[in-house]
Amino acid sequence: MKDQIRYASFTPQQGKAELSALVACYQDVFADEPWNEWKKCAVCGKKWGNSHKADLMKIDFCHCGQSVDEFWPAEVVREDIMHEVTEKTSCWLAWKQDLVVGFCWGYPITPDALEEKLKLSGFASSVTREFGHDCRIGYQDEIGVRGEYRGHGIAKKMFSYRLEDFRRMGLNVGVVRTKTNPPSVTNLWFMDLGYRVICEYNDLDGRVILARSLESL
Ligand SMILES: [Zn+2]
Repeated sequence: MKDQIRYASFTPQQGKAELSALVACYQDVFADEPWNEWKKCAVCGKKWGNSHKADLMKIDFCHCGQSVDEFWPAEVVREDIMHEVTEKTSCWLAWKQDLVVGFCWGYPITPDALEEKLKLSGFASSVTREFGHDCRIGYQDEIGVRGEYRGHGIAKKMFSYRLEDFRRMGLNVGVVRTKTNPPSVTNLWFMDLGYRVICEYNDLDGRVILARSLESL
């Protein structure tokens, strides 16, 4: 499996086919466990993953009196990617032939701009208290691998390519948002790498911001 995977950096300007392949991968990853963001009811907000297809068939893909929607419509995902993946972004895709099986991106951002993006007051002061006022953040925005390709080190490989890019850009602090209630796989993985909680949302999912110096990683 590993030998058949090709890694390539990506910008949306590369071409429509590549962008569509990434959008399809993004939709598939989030439709799967643990996110279950495949379909949603626009009225009550209930969501279903692709493992709940049989349940949806029983209700004829209708809830609260209307057809359920895509959780992540392709045009919304495409716009998000165009917005997040710019020339400043480090973005890597894992390809198996013409199928994108994994994606990973992140970018440099100031503490204040990241506080605004994360909608988490107190983040900027926490991160500068911990890493100094001249810290240069690489925000580790997204990482995902299709369910059937997990467990082969693909995420780790893309993470290491992104880390190399961050170092080349002169970034010295890695920041990532994860869930702790229950702890997500990414949360446990980053804690193992020595990332620590620097700011918390105190919400039901236990969302936290983790950070770590990139220098000794
Ligand atoms: Zn509903």
